[in-house]
Amino acid sequence: MSDYPRLRIAGIEPESFVDGPGIRLTVFTQGCHHHCPGCQNPQTHDFEGGRYIELDEILAMIDENPLLDGVTFSGGDPMDQAAALIPLARKIKERGLNLVIFTGYTYERLVELESERPELLELLSFADILVDGPFIMAQRSLELKFRGSMNQRLIDVQQTLSAGHVVIHKIQIDEQAEHPDWKLNQ
Ligand code: SF4
Repeated sequence: MSDYPRLRIAGIEPESFVDGPGIRLTVFTQGCHHHCPGCQNPQTHDFEGGRYIELDEILAMIDENPLLDGVTFSGGDPMDQAAALIPLARKIKERGLNLVIFTGYTYERLVELESERPELLELLSFADILVDGPFIMAQRSLELKFRGSMNQRLIDVQQTLSAGHVVIHKIQIDEQAEHPDWKLNQ
């Protein structure tokens, strides 16, 4: 793991029910340059804040809880520490857990950045769900599953990578069926 940069985190929630389906351990990375107005975690923006953590410490917390369905990378913006998260993502998938990643980038922007930052799509290749896009206060809703504003999508990452275009995750499709008046942002 030593070839990768160290991971800087804002904190860890060992048992979360709001950061994706089921019971999850959520890693809040430190550092985000999006500065969305109304962000609920402004303390996570400073790239010099938080603390470094060894990946083994996170893996030990994961292994302690047999009830976990998966792990979530939230922030901050995990994509701004993509290289540091790749070995952790690999270990999470080796354990048979699912992986949700939140980012302020849209999926399309991550693809655009691939040539200069190949680690973005490498990290994404381990994910099951990507919650993408910035938080937009004017589109805020408390009714949305796992996200804060209507522009943000629950993307089925593996289907998206094989199809070559965004495939919305079944969770959001089902949510949309219950709220046909909501505009599906695709
Ligand atoms: S991307 Fe997330 S953490 Fe960053 S400013 Fe926006 S809402 Fe806050």
